[in-house]
Amino acid sequence: MVAEAQNAKSQTQNLANRAAGWLTLVSLSVGLVTLLIWLWAGKEVSFAVERMVTVMVTSCPHALGVAIPLVVAISTAISAQKGLLIRNRTAFEESRKITAMVFDKTGTLTEGEFGITRIKVLSQGVEESAFLGMVASLEQQSQHPIAQSIVRAARERKVSLPAATDFQSITGKGVSATVAGKKVLVVSPGYLKEQNIPLPADAYQSGAETVVFVLVDNQLAGYMALADKIRPDSKDAVRQLQSDGIKVYMATGDNQKVADAVARELGLDGVYAEVLPDQKVNVVKDLQGKGYFVAMTGDGVNDAPALAQANVGIAVGSGTDVAAETADIILVNSKPTDITSLVSFGKATYRKMRQNLLWATGYNVIAIPLAAGVLYPDFVLSPAIGAVLMSASTVIVALNAQLLRKEIQTLNNRKAAH
Ligand code: ADP
Ligand code: MG
Repeated sequence: MVAEAQNAKSQTQNLANRAAGWLTLVSLSVGLVTLLIWLWAGKEVSFAVERMVTVMVTSCPHALGVAIPLVVAISTAISAQKGLLIRNRTAFEESRKITAMVFDKTGTLTEGEFGITRIKVLSQGVEESAFLGMVASLEQQSQHPIAQSIVRAARERKVSLPAATDFQSITGKGVSATVAGKKVLVVSPGYLKEQNIPLPADAYQSGAETVVFVLVDNQLAGYMALADKIRPDSKDAVRQLQSDGIKVYMATGDNQKVADAVARELGLDGVYAEVLPDQKVNVVKDLQGKGYFVAMTGDGVNDAPALAQANVGIAVGSGTDVAAETADIILVNSKPTDITSLVSFGKATYRKMRQNLLWATGYNVIAIPLAAGVLYPDFVLSPAIGAVLMSASTVIVALNAQLLRKEIQTLNNRKAAH
């Protein structure tokens, strides 16, 4: 699914590549046209060639080779200090266009560190600790935040874990394995619904709980309620994105009630609950279809296809390797508020790139005609002066790039003052 989404995504070129392509073309063709015109006007070959060379030397997009990479080097370095690891520069440049942000819930907006609040054993004669041990023996082999929390709880309570074989992860739904000759599944309420197994009446007590259900040989054997905490700065992140005019949505594999509780707490613009990995991709596609420029932030294996599909994919640093490998940008400190810097840095960086592009090429408007000899015989630009001009533009561009540090600093101070 990740490969599919990546292939379907149109590959946008970054600004430097686009500009360099055009300028090389301009430089070569204007040079050639100069040569032809002078020859046609009856000048000797050496004069015509000298004019052509001067045009090409002056207009050679040399400063460009510095203009944009320098800005990129500076902005990626500052971003890294602010907790943003940029893996795909084009996506970073494009983050200024984001109009919709889709967040995953577990491990992204929430910490993904669950505490067990209730354990209910439905099978006759099974002790709670044995039940927890059985579940934990499966979860040992899963990377999911729920799994890690259950294993931690089992270790804390010092219950022994039986051996589990034939482990399988059912992405977005749960896990299965064989324990003591029995087929055990730990799954979401969505999976029970699919199998037409009714939910126990007392499974959900408070809205904010995530409940996982345990099936032994296809019989409901019990369930566990877990509580997660919303990350302390999720609310700020949502509010700041919204004040930048960005719509904020959540797409989660978790239950609708839990999703609604989190959405209410954070003031989200919309929620998609009980979605499987392919449906997360569709959430992103739908928003793109409505004309949004979509960023997706997630941490899990189940988020990876949606991260690939989004215009800008952002992985939470504490998440799975698959998510980090698929994303364009990684939140090193796992802080949702770092995303708000992404948008403003992206904007500042793009502005600086365009400024530099202008400095690197703008002087050509005057220099190229002079080099071509439009003022001949009153004035002709020598190839040496042409070379000096070209170098001077490189220096200006390099100095201008350094100013980006200051601009980003000012942006940051303004944000802090808010
Ligand atoms: P989210 O999209 O919020 O990160 P997931 O799609 O990863 O959530 O998981 C959706 C649901 O699937 C979970 O709420 C849980 O019920 C179930 N689930 C997924 N993986 C596991 C696991 N390893 N153990 C138990 N339940 C799991
Ligand atoms: Mg998640």
